[in-house]
Amino acid sequence: MTLIPKSHPRAKSLLIREKLVSGFENGLVAKEGLLAQGRGEAFDYLLGEKTGRTARKAIKAAAAQILLADFPVISVNGNIAALCPREIVTLAKTVNAKIEVNLFYTDEKRKQNIVKTLKKNGTKEILGVNNSSKATLRGIDSARRIIDKNGILSADVVVVPLEDGDRTMALRKAGKIVITFDLNPFSRTSQTANITIVDNVIRAIDLLIDSCKKISKKNRSALQKIVKDFDNKRNLSENIIEIKNNLSRRAQFA
Ligand code: ATP
Ligand code: MG
Repeated sequence: MTLIPKSHPRAKSLLIREKLVSGFENGLVAKEGLLAQGRGEAFDYLLGEKTGRTARKAIKAAAAQILLADFPVISVNGNIAALCPREIVTLAKTVNAKIEVNLFYTDEKRKQNIVKTLKKNGTKEILGVNNSSKATLRGIDSARRIIDKNGILSADVVVVPLEDGDRTMALRKAGKIVITFDLNPFSRTSQTANITIVDNVIRAIDLLIDSCKKISKKNRSALQKIVKDFDNKRNLSENIIEIKNNLSRRAQFA
């Protein structure tokens, strides 16, 4: 691992990159996952690498929606296992959600490495690994449609951080309420999900855990109101305006 001095102007971003690179070297992250991170970084730059107002709104709605769920499942891929395995386990424990390993580029060895990482971070039960409980999600090609009968197939609410658009659409078609973290407000995932948190997952996941704790005492109708008052399309538009304003501030002669 390269040593990044704290004083480096891009230290935080480089540290996140390092997590991905060690995740790749340790067999958690796919090559394509490194590219996905790059696309995310570009959008993070446009956001000013901070959690904006629209992301905070989406986080609160997501917390309410997860607390309202009968059967919430968090889907974990290689990038998530490399970036924030401990936080995923904490979130699952906080809201009593199940964790399912669900890879875009299927690879048994990589899946086992992800399972090991999650276990090391304190979870016992991990779905998506047992051949006897395989089920399929309709509407996407064969390798990418495997889900767990006892996990995503049975879930009412699925949290799919850094997901691909095809799968998000298939999950919506299957009647799931989809929550995602995606730095790109224009991606198909962002546009298709019920609740899109446009923020770096590494910043937003702790805020989501805090928000779940904070509003967990509210009654169902108060939680339902938070969800009802949230409009994803509107929030994404506001996010794009946030980016535009951020860029205008930086364009000195605009
Ligand atoms: P879509 O398939 O939804 O249209 P895409 O094909 O552009 O999106 P994918 O590789 O399928 O991109 O999905 C990965 C998504 O994850 C990208 O939109 C990327 O911006 C986002 N992303 C990457 N790293 C992070 C991160 N650390 N936090 C949040 N989002 C991220
Ligand atoms: Mg995609």
